[in-house]
Amino acid sequence: MIKELFASFAVVALFVAIWALSQEWVRSWPRRVRMAGAGLYMGAAAIATMIMAVPFQSGFFFDLRSVLVGLAGFFADPLAGVIAGLIAAAYRFSLGGAGLYAGFATIAFGVAAGWLAYWMRREFGAWTQATIVFCLLQAVSPLITLYFLPAPLRERAFFDAVFPMMGFNLLASVLSAIGIEMSRRRGWLIHMLRASIAQAPDYFYVKDRHSRLVIANKGVLASLDMGQLKAIFGKTDFDFSPVERARTLYDEEQALLASGVAMVDKEETLPTGKGGIRTFLTTKTPILNEDGTVAGLVGVTKDLTERVTLERQLREKQSELDTLFSGMSDGLARFDGDNRLLFSNANYQALFPRTGDVRQPGALLADILDAVLATGEQNIGDRDPEQWKQWVLTRTSEGGEEQVSLADGRWLHIKSRRLETGGSVVIVSDVTALKQAEAKLADVAEQFRVLATTDALTGLHNRRDFDHAWENEFLQARLNGHDISLIVTDIDHFKAYNDTYGHPAGDACLRQVADCVRKGSQRGPDMAARFGGEEFAVILPRTDTAGVAAVASRILSAVEGLAVPHSGSPAGAVTVSIGNATLSAGQYASADAMLKAADDALYRAKAEGRGRAMAAA
Ligand code: GH3
Ligand code: MG
Ligand code: MG
Repeated sequence: MIKELFASFAVVALFVAIWALSQEWVRSWPRRVRMAGAGLYMGAAAIATMIMAVPFQSGFFFDLRSVLVGLAGFFADPLAGVIAGLIAAAYRFSLGGAGLYAGFATIAFGVAAGWLAYWMRREFGAWTQATIVFCLLQAVSPLITLYFLPAPLRERAFFDAVFPMMGFNLLASVLSAIGIEMSRRRGWLIHMLRASIAQAPDYFYVKDRHSRLVIANKGVLASLDMGQLKAIFGKTDFDFSPVERARTLYDEEQALLASGVAMVDKEETLPTGKGGIRTFLTTKTPILNEDGTVAGLVGVTKDLTERVTLERQLREKQSELDTLFSGMSDGLARFDGDNRLLFSNANYQALFPRTGDVRQPGALLADILDAVLATGEQNIGDRDPEQWKQWVLTRTSEGGEEQVSLADGRWLHIKSRRLETGGSVVIVSDVTALKQAEAKLADVAEQFRVLATTDALTGLHNRRDFDHAWENEFLQARLNGHDISLIVTDIDHFKAYNDTYGHPAGDACLRQVADCVRKGSQRGPDMAARFGGEEFAVILPRTDTAGVAAVASRILSAVEGLAVPHSGSPAGAVTVSIGNATLSAGQYASADAMLKAADDALYRAKAEGRGRAMAAA
């Protein structure tokens, strides 16, 4: 009896063990197929235990079928349990006998116990409780048969068969449930580890003590042109790389395994199979067993090619820029958002010889400006130093330009530009030559202006300048209600003078008389001009009749004072005649009218005997 029970127990153990081991293999099957498979498998297992069953009374059998159909329900799916149950029931039916219903009931009970445990676990996540309930139910399942036995037999059946059977049921269900669960958890853990290794970034691989690949991620597989993990399992670098390279790697790894010291961040530039060159960074660490012996190594290799290429390009760009900056004749400086000097070219320092040593990367513009003030490098005029400093700081950070003059006579053009990325760029150009050219040009322009408005012989204003000024002054005076006077002067008998003394002497005389006219009108706004050949005009703004009479008599006496001999004149010396007019109460409608009035007065002076002044009527 006990012997047969052990045999039945062994059958259960075998089926359960195979089932647990196959879990890893069937993991990839569709769920429905797996469920149906579990049902069929456990149904077959139930049949096997029934074949090994312990016959008790004709038609009554004791075996572990309820445990097996229950396990299918508990660990696969209630449906698998039902399938297994139906298969077991069908077989039991074929056996027939008095215990048929007892057999059916036991199977149904087993399926129900599996379903209950499955449900408990799924609903409450309570694996331990579900297992306890499952095992206890399985333990009591032999009692069902007792119920179906004729009453007289029950006592004997309980002690001979049911009781030991309960023990075996309990033991079988406890061991099976724990075994299946543990192998399932381990399988799940391995699956998770594998999946995470496969998806690890870069190149990730594990090798055994003999440098044979155990596992690797997708990156490694792709680089070796291998699709499946199993294709590389147990292979070494000798299978993939040229023998010299493989030898180097092998020696390196064996040295690492022997010493137990990790190799960290080894950078290598290697030719790739596709004809390029790539840079890799590798770290290999020994894997130790719990007793400290070496089991293998884990390696991570990163492809740095893109980064290395970028860094090189950056360096090249940088040196290109450096060359460009140092080659430019302007000074260039880059400031950050706090007006701190980030970098500059050599010319920037050279353009400011007194503060060049302060203009170094890291220096604050405020400190540089303090140095400018302290050394007096720049002419800031009468501006307040503190305000000037603030102004320069603002201009630098916000952008703007100005021309500054330095104490050594040079002129600099300083242009600041704000950058989108923060901070600003300052470009300094030496514009001294430009400034000098500008000044020269202004000089020339002034000379031209003087030439264009001056009479060459006498140095007085010329006729064109007079016409322009007279029109203006007349209108101004009328508009403002001021007095204005005008004098016109003509040398007497000058034709005769020329005829007598010659033209050059005439010119000399003209210059002398011009001086007299100039000296006669001494106030700032007065304007003396050569009006015609030997005629002069004087504009006297804000001058009344008395004033103009005084000026006229000063001119007369100045010319008289010259005492230039003139044999052709009745006076015996050079004299002038003067006509003048004054606007004091809107007498004249236009500048021309007033000029004509002065001219008329001049002719009257001539007519009256020359050498005198006459005012307009
Ligand atoms: P009047 O007293 O009536 O003014 O007699 P006038 O001889 O001065 O007569 P008029 O004004 O007609 O003569 C002008 C003379 O002035 C003619 C010319 O010989 C002389 N003259 C005009 N311009 C110049 C000049 O630039 N240089 C010289 N040397 N003589 C000039
Ligand atoms: Mg004349
Ligand atoms: Mg004359």
